[in-house]
Amino acid sequence: MNQTQIDAIVQQVLANLGVSASQSAAREENNTMPPYSSTEYNGRKLIGIYSDMNDAIAAAQEGYKAVRAMSVEKREKIITAIRELTRAEAAIVAELGVKETGMGKIEHKRLKHILVADKTPGTEDIVSEAKTGDSGLTLVEMAPFGVVGAITPSTNPSETVICNSIGMIAAGNGVVFNPHPGAICTSNYAVDLVNRACYSAGGPKVLVASMDKPTLESAQIMYQHPAIRLLVCTGGPGVVKSVLSSGKKAIGAGAGNPPVIVDDTADVEKAGKDIIDGCTFDNNLPCIAEKEVFAFRNIKDHLIFSMMRNGAYMLTREEADALAKIVIVEVTDKKTGKIKKQVNRKCVGRDAQVIYAMLNNGKKLPPDTRCLICETDFDHPFVQTELMMPILPIVTVDNIDQAIDLAVKAEHGNRHTAHMHSKNIDNLTKFASAVETTIFVKNAPSYAGIGFGGEGHTTFTIAGPTGEGLTSARSFTRKRRCVMVDNFRII
Ligand code: NAD
Repeated sequence: MNQTQIDAIVQQVLANLGVSASQSAAREENNTMPPYSSTEYNGRKLIGIYSDMNDAIAAAQEGYKAVRAMSVEKREKIITAIRELTRAEAAIVAELGVKETGMGKIEHKRLKHILVADKTPGTEDIVSEAKTGDSGLTLVEMAPFGVVGAITPSTNPSETVICNSIGMIAAGNGVVFNPHPGAICTSNYAVDLVNRACYSAGGPKVLVASMDKPTLESAQIMYQHPAIRLLVCTGGPGVVKSVLSSGKKAIGAGAGNPPVIVDDTADVEKAGKDIIDGCTFDNNLPCIAEKEVFAFRNIKDHLIFSMMRNGAYMLTREEADALAKIVIVEVTDKKTGKIKKQVNRKCVGRDAQVIYAMLNNGKKLPPDTRCLICETDFDHPFVQTELMMPILPIVTVDNIDQAIDLAVKAEHGNRHTAHMHSKNIDNLTKFASAVETTIFVKNAPSYAGIGFGGEGHTTFTIAGPTGEGLTSARSFTRKRRCVMVDNFRII
């Protein structure tokens, strides 16, 4: 056999593994290519990844058939295996997420995966109801939809895939994902993780499926495919709107811009620390994270002082305005041709140090800086825009009515998440009632709202627009009623 024939065989084997010739050559020559793609990780082919959305849906349908045939006990065993493998590989997938997207913090992403493993509800979330009376017994059970089509974001990619998988499988569904293209390797690693766990617990080889190259077109195929009975979308306003316009039953988990009010009854020292801890968690990628602060005038300086003692750097007004021009850029809308403003993706989820360096003023921040804070007016773009990065504007207010009025306006009617630091029950109640958010956190970092240091289950799909709230297995079910007349009572 000559060298040409050997090379041809090597290329064929690599192609079977989903590794392109250029990728393998780059790896050999200078080791610059990462050891992962949307179809493989360290030479291992990922399970459940397809090139055609129709094939992915067919695989998820087989998954659904397999789950339907299982006892609930078996389903729970598979979920236990998913939890265990998520814990075991949390550090790997967290590192992959940061490497691929350039966003977030490895340690925080690891903690997010452990949270998903520990606090995403399983089959215990599915409960039946019985109603008895003179006319007999009526039973209501939570049944699966069938195959769920799920869209996932780049900000919490693998966390959302695993969390959705646990809930959707617990409810008895099959799942096909059309993940964010910018986090496709991490999302597909998570799909593979779910499938490996399932198989190790005696389940089918493929229980959840995904695409090697997800596109808006593959999302459209998913929307229109007759086998897809429920769509679940976690993302920004554009994609949530597209899913809600699909004509199918849909769960939409959309954008937020969580305000924080700090009044003059708060434990200001603690409020400063809590706000910086929440705002900087995974570099502000969670949609629930603190995005703008409304502080009473008489405690504002103390609050800023506490924030600075906890890793915040105070920008001057000039620096804040200059940074706003870097962080929010003008682009031409592909559809309308009009100029629109949008967040610079190069800044989303980046470290405070990296963002500050973009100012290019030669100044270096103290090494422990984790957040950039600034005093701004209410109209400043930092207040009005969901930045998803460790920049936190502070607006001074004179009383609770002004604070609530501005905070509600800054939330833009998303009804997603809001926070408050106060010991005044009237103020807390007034803001909670006015802002109408799905999550309202009092006197704690934002992540307490998804069960991290707070009571209650976790989710990475918070469905405000469609009203499911913090989704769990029961959100992915349909209710079915069975009626027996004049019988089946025991009294
Ligand atoms: P994004 O909106 O850019 O993308 C989400 C997904 O939708 C991706 O897979 C993308 O490719 C796809 N997509 C975009 N437009 C589409 C269309 N018209 N049709 C079909 N698919 C389309 O989201 P992102 O930047 O990764 O995530 C950040 C946004 O998501 C923020 O606004 C954040 O608040 C929100 N988010 C909300 C929740 C929640 O639980 N409510 C959780 C995470 C993120």
